[in-house]
Amino acid sequence: MKQETAEKWELFRTLLQKISAYEEAVALMNWDLRTGAPRKGAETRAATIGLLSTEAFKLQTSAEMGEYLSYLNHATVLGELDDVQRRMVLEVQEDYDRSIKIPAQKFQEYTELTAHAETLWEDFKEDSDFAGFEPYLTQIVDKTQEFIDYWGPRATRYDTLLHMYEPDLTVEKVDQVFGQLRDRLVPLVEAVTAAKNKPEAPFLDQLFDKEQQEKFSRFLLEQIGYDFEAGRIDETVHPFETTINHGDVRITTNYKQDDVTSAIFSSLHEGGHALYEQNVAEDLAGSPLGQGTSMGIHESQSRFWENVVGRSLPFWQRYFGDLQQHFPTELKDVNAEQFYRGSNRVENSLIRIEADELTYNLHIIIRYEIEKMLFNEGLAVSELPKVWNEKYKSYLGLTPPNDGLGVLQDVHWSGGLFGYFPSYALGNMYAAQITHTLRKELPQFEGFIAEGNFLPIKEWLTDKIYKYGKSRKPSEIILAVTGEELNPDYLADYLEEKFKAIYGF
Ligand code: ZN
Repeated sequence: MKQETAEKWELFRTLLQKISAYEEAVALMNWDLRTGAPRKGAETRAATIGLLSTEAFKLQTSAEMGEYLSYLNHATVLGELDDVQRRMVLEVQEDYDRSIKIPAQKFQEYTELTAHAETLWEDFKEDSDFAGFEPYLTQIVDKTQEFIDYWGPRATRYDTLLHMYEPDLTVEKVDQVFGQLRDRLVPLVEAVTAAKNKPEAPFLDQLFDKEQQEKFSRFLLEQIGYDFEAGRIDETVHPFETTINHGDVRITTNYKQDDVTSAIFSSLHEGGHALYEQNVAEDLAGSPLGQGTSMGIHESQSRFWENVVGRSLPFWQRYFGDLQQHFPTELKDVNAEQFYRGSNRVENSLIRIEADELTYNLHIIIRYEIEKMLFNEGLAVSELPKVWNEKYKSYLGLTPPNDGLGVLQDVHWSGGLFGYFPSYALGNMYAAQITHTLRKELPQFEGFIAEGNFLPIKEWLTDKIYKYGKSRKPSEIILAVTGEELNPDYLADYLEEKFKAIYGF
């Protein structure tokens, strides 16, 4: 590398560090807002977040950044940069191209609006007050539409949003894989519903002490290898994982007294996200490549630990005894297999985050279709409750008794996250496809789970996925790991095999 290139590279990295310092502050403030910051400070906090994000945004789109990028792109052409450096320039260039098109003022308004709306959402949901939430959501949709115009729509307007969370994913592709999946899941759900041998789990309909639940969640997180020296767990209405920095990867969960499985699986889920973030290679840490590569691949890891591992029979053969020790009275006459079958009951339900592994995908398909209607077909925000309820009736045979249990249930839209929901079902598909390869390469997979020996599994995933952070695109990861492109049949195969065994048909 030429002396001048080395100097430019240093300046470029210094600027990136400055941006990530702002981002760290904003991430911490957002975490704080959602984990118990005083309500009266929320408005000022939202303004502060808007201000700091805008400072980061200005640096990202500065003339200085433009100059470094054009120099380093040239150095790439001359072959002066190594592979990771090239990827970094490419990644920052993509952000730059996207951000430079949005006026800073517009960006600040948007950030303040979503920070504010996210805080208010909790109350609107609690009160089932869609009318109260509607003006905020209308503004968020309108501003997102404006942003799509600034960026320039891809194949469709909604494609532009999909691409942000899953690079190069298209409506055409999602229509295809969701269609293929739906065609196999609908008959499976019907067969499960008609099956005679349903799991009985009256023991789950009891009250479980929250403090004991918390202890058990922490224990499981330690077992799978979540590093508490580099993270912490708190309680929020809607569980999430957030990366403050490479050594500070936090998660939240929600302890429900009347549902002991809820916190267990949400802790494993967020723990899966955290394992990914905690195991990105050191040399990428703190750089724009230092995070998970896409929402879909991220979700494949949370789903892997939650479902493939956590909702498996070997897992409960290993851990049911521990759970029983926390709840000796409640689970006195229950065994591991009963608990496994009970916690895998399939039931059409209203709430996405409480849905079983099988019907969950239908909740996602509903949201995907509604978002497409919002951005591609001009659906008005005021129509959302009606469309939502109609789709729940047609896909799941249920009508929400109120909007809190319906259209207001998810935090995503209040934060402007449109185009994000499909990643959940993509995550399920990637997870099943990756597991198929993992089983071939680690034939003792189930034995490891039954022993509570997760290290070989975590190491395999680190080696194949985690360590690369964003230095490989999702399509490259899935091809390199499994030898083929995204294929929804692996998920359908996995679900068929699992639920046929549980329901005995
Ligand atoms: Zn997740």
